[in-house]
Amino acid sequence: MNTDLNRRRWLKFSGIALVSLPFAYFPRHAQAIANEALRVQLKYRDTPNGDMNCANCLEFIPGKSTTDLGGCKKIPKDDEISPNGYCTLWNSM
Ligand code: SF4
Repeated sequence: MNTDLNRRRWLKFSGIALVSLPFAYFPRHAQAIANEALRVQLKYRDTPNGDMNCANCLEFIPGKSTTDLGGCKKIPKDDEISPNGYCTLWNSM
């Protein structure tokens, strides 16, 4: 009887943990996907265009270090913008 109760609790806990895992593990990736349409519209890419890159664009929001992914004022809710990236809204002024 007691073993049955422990087994039910374990099954309940592991079921909840299994269902919750994607929400705990993938929220950052989900944000980037949310703005995929805007990335396409602005022709964003992870490579620079000559000397023009996100790191020297006024719209770039740097990450923790100069090489970390950051954000962009023109692509909201997206924190996976590469400092080496580029899009058609590149702005130096
Ligand atoms: S506007 Fe374009 S080039 Fe400038 S930081 Fe944003 S994505 Fe990069």
